[in-house]
Amino acid sequence: TDAHLSAIEAARVLNAFVMETPEQARAMAKAVDEKIARGEGGPLAGIPLGIKDLFATKGVRTTACSKILGNFVPTYESTVTSQLWRDGAVMLGKLNNDEFAMGSANETSCFGPVGNPWRREGSNTTLVPGGSSGGSASAVAALLCMGATATDTGGSIRQPAAFTATVGIKPTYGRCSRWGIVAFASSLDQAGPIARGVRDAAMLLRSMAGHDPKDTTSVDVPVPDYEAAIGKSVKGMKIGIPREYRLDGMPAEIEKLWSEGRAWLEAAGAETVEVSLPHTKYALPAYYIVAPAEASSNLARYDGVRYGLRESGKNIIEQYENTRAEGFGAEVRRRVMIGTYVLSAGYYDAYYLRAQKVRTLIKKDFEDCFAKGVDAILTPATPSAAFGIGEKGGADPVEMYLNDIFTVTVNMAGLPGIAVPAGKDAQGLPLGLQLIGRPFDEETLFSLGEVIE
Ligand code: GLN
Repeated sequence: TDAHLSAIEAARVLNAFVMETPEQARAMAKAVDEKIARGEGGPLAGIPLGIKDLFATKGVRTTACSKILGNFVPTYESTVTSQLWRDGAVMLGKLNNDEFAMGSANETSCFGPVGNPWRREGSNTTLVPGGSSGGSASAVAALLCMGATATDTGGSIRQPAAFTATVGIKPTYGRCSRWGIVAFASSLDQAGPIARGVRDAAMLLRSMAGHDPKDTTSVDVPVPDYEAAIGKSVKGMKIGIPREYRLDGMPAEIEKLWSEGRAWLEAAGAETVEVSLPHTKYALPAYYIVAPAEASSNLARYDGVRYGLRESGKNIIEQYENTRAEGFGAEVRRRVMIGTYVLSAGYYDAYYLRAQKVRTLIKKDFEDCFAKGVDAILTPATPSAAFGIGEKGGADPVEMYLNDIFTVTVNMAGLPGIAVPAGKDAQGLPLGLQLIGRPFDEETLFSLGEVIE
């Protein structure tokens, strides 16, 4: 714990932590030492972790990196983090993220952008770590913590993991409790770990997962020993290669990495087959209707009365308006506007209802594929390597949304997906591959992920 606290101090330039909690960390570590002495350490005894600032931590400021929650100190602990503490982990502090987890570059945080510890060869440009869990990915990659919690609504665990050569898994929707996690799009949000390797991710997920009566969408199925899946033979497994993920103009190095991944899995005894997921091209537009719609509803609670920031006004309406105008950043306001528009009476059928129908078709594509005996699907994790801070999405937000092209389908279908570091681009930057699994079959993803790693 002390070594990690010093590393965090020395790497403040990355802006990965928005809150350091050294006293608490030392107290937790000491308490775990005593437990270890009694032989009651737990599976994560003494493992120092960083916590995305979307998870409510009792007595420790939790902001979702939004000014509107700037002074919010929860009186309760999220289920996922309380399970980590139950198993002996130690909290080092809270990690930066895009405001309310909306973004793909960790540039929308009210605490400023996060730096990626990786650099292009021969260049000093600071690159983004991806988003929205940019602080989690950057901190793990820079060895500031041994692992981190993260959340993924459309790719926010897997894309930053791919940009930083770390491992990130978004488990099946319902695997982890969402209780005590600041809500973005409730039907898509899932918690998961970002870790230094596949085995670490497996250990962390085991502690994070499990049914929680406080989240009615968490599913009551046993949590397997994920670590046992590591090193398990993948011989005879059938891996789908979806042809719709071969995009026009896809960089040659991404294409090459994908073929290499396929070859590695074949060398380990798996069989690969071309598959079709015909509705893939509608996933991104449908996601950017469903996610903002749910966000506009979830964010209605920030009215300056119940939580955080409160601006004054002549009357209650003006107080709401002033609070929300002052408290939300530009991307969050954009999402709220899109969301309220697509949910409004005259447009609901044309946009929201249609997007929900598309979502059902996307889910069915995967079901058809798995029904043919496919065990997992291999795709690139991202369409590019990390880019420079401020390089994308300035004038055109859609340019930023395109980062999620390979990851959003997985959230729309509620499936588990893992991103594993697999190679580098011509400038020496990490690239990742994604494996998508059957519902509640994270084990297969760990087995296959370890082959690629
Ligand atoms: N980049 C996507 C978005 O901005 C996904 C974010 C996430 O997974 N939280 O909505």
